[in-house]
Amino acid sequence: MTSPTENNSTKPANFLRHIIERDLEQGTYAQRKWAGRPADAAQHQMGTPDPAKVRTRFPPEPNGYLHVGHAKSICLNFGLARDYNGICHMRFDDTNPEKEEQEYVDGILDAVHWLGFGWDANGTSHLYHASDYFDFMYRAAEYLIGAGLAYVDEQSAEEMRKNRGDFGRPGTDSPFRQRTVEQNLARFREMRDGKLDDGAAVLRAKIDMASPNINMRDPALYRIKHAEHHNTGNKWCIYPMYTYAHPIEDALENITHSLCTLEFEDQRPFYDWLLDRLAEGGLINKPHPRQYEFARLNLTYVITSKRKLKQLVDDGHVTGWDDPRMPTIVGMRRRGYTPEAIQLFAERIGVSKENTWIDYSVLDQALRDDLDPKAPRAMAVLDPVKLVITNWAEVMGSDGKLDACSAPVHPHKPELGRREFQFGKEIWIERTDYEDVPPKGYNRLFPGNKVRLKYGHVVECTGAQKDAAGQVTEVHAKLVPDTKSGTPGADAIKVKGNITWVSVADGVKAEVRLYDRLFTVPQPGTSGKDVIEELNPESLKVVHAYVEPALKSAKGDERFQFERHGYFVADRGDCRDGKPVFNRVAGMKDSWGK
Ligand code: ATP
Ligand code: MG
Repeated sequence: MTSPTENNSTKPANFLRHIIERDLEQGTYAQRKWAGRPADAAQHQMGTPDPAKVRTRFPPEPNGYLHVGHAKSICLNFGLARDYNGICHMRFDDTNPEKEEQEYVDGILDAVHWLGFGWDANGTSHLYHASDYFDFMYRAAEYLIGAGLAYVDEQSAEEMRKNRGDFGRPGTDSPFRQRTVEQNLARFREMRDGKLDDGAAVLRAKIDMASPNINMRDPALYRIKHAEHHNTGNKWCIYPMYTYAHPIEDALENITHSLCTLEFEDQRPFYDWLLDRLAEGGLINKPHPRQYEFARLNLTYVITSKRKLKQLVDDGHVTGWDDPRMPTIVGMRRRGYTPEAIQLFAERIGVSKENTWIDYSVLDQALRDDLDPKAPRAMAVLDPVKLVITNWAEVMGSDGKLDACSAPVHPHKPELGRREFQFGKEIWIERTDYEDVPPKGYNRLFPGNKVRLKYGHVVECTGAQKDAAGQVTEVHAKLVPDTKSGTPGADAIKVKGNITWVSVADGVKAEVRLYDRLFTVPQPGTSGKDVIEELNPESLKVVHAYVEPALKSAKGDERFQFERHGYFVADRGDCRDGKPVFNRVAGMKDSWGK
């Protein structure tokens, strides 16, 4: 597994690392054999000692695009495998015939790769599909029937619900529970052969209708669904339930540590029950995988539910799955987040068993920490107003004269070289950098004040021109001679203000998209209200800015720090040579709390 992050000795401990380290120490899985591919016990037994010390898996259902919550799971599963000489399997949990689409499958693989992980190890691609295990799952079901551990139930859905009982009340046995093995086998085969309609029967495990854990009250294993499957076509009209399929998928793949979110904690007894029975029957490798639960990621101002994200796309509240405001991995990528920042974020939030909300600022801080040491700097004026140097001809000889200036690409990396731009009579500055009457502590342009135009000269403000509405149309200033940055004597005049600028002569027009949080409430989707009502109407503001000449041909995905403004990326969809478009990823400082 490849990844740009450090090795495991620097990683903070967590309960999953403890469990894995204990298993490695005790050699829990040291004797297992591996058939070279997912397999049943007999085939694995003929294989070689498993070359992977640890096997984890990332098992998405291909029914949507992955989001930042999945990113946590990806970093966790692939990261643990990488750190402990293991392998993480990329598995599509495609047991549900109706919802899968190739677009999602491709999107998921792309996202995992982009995040910096892969599933090839020692020349083997560990990319698997749960639907490839349908034959085995069927065989295991017949085994359970034969062992008296499963039965075909033909109660109506309503009866089944009623007879399941609830937290305070034990369930009631189904009248079909006492069927003989022969009757069950015959009926199950009829289900398989399409003799029954959707919903007419289910195969259930025979465990305990009085169990205090409702998941152990004879859970359903198979249901009838006359539907075509993208992988198996019309071969099957019965499909395994998730709770039955998932442990089997893990077992066939020799998974050691099966990590899932806390909602599945109550399913763990059934996970173990099923794998214990199949191991006793000699169907799966021993020792079987174990399930461990961790808290899902909740991020403030963000929704992490595929269903709700899909609603935002389908109803046109965003421009698509890759809208830079979306917490999808494609959205975050387009917004300008880096894989390294997302990995760093996943590391910093860690894993625990406690459901909490992580502050969005943690993600932005990870981005700043990743980009600060590497992003090239540039100047940009996002809300431009013209500054006219009224004595330019006097000092420079003519109005048309330009003065070449330069600045380091990165202040701490001289090896990255310098960026060049011109200073001239007319300069774009930020509208907020001028005030007629300065508020207290204001050090920028106001009549009589001197400021440095960064990397350029010191100017003294003389006033401004306004339109009929009182809007400033031009700010006026005089150049103070012999103050050019980098020349001897430049510091003879001390100024408090240092402002960024782009000259009219070589500045490049750019569209800049300023993104804000997509929702106005810190925990969207939790109040019972429709999340649509919680959308932030001002989540996108488009401005027409000027940027340094070097950015004229910025390529999609190129990231910059716009001095004073924060981190920006050339939009991977819309940026064109000569017509750059930038997205704001994050500001220079945290503004989320304000
Ligand atoms: P959603 O509810 O958004 O549809 P899901 O859990 O149904 O998500 P899957 O495709 O089944 O999506 O998830 C694949 C893996 O990602 C699972 O192992 C799941 O536990 C994990 N996962 C999903 N959401 C989160 C989250 N918010 N935080 C951490 N892990 C998550
Ligand atoms: Mg799911």
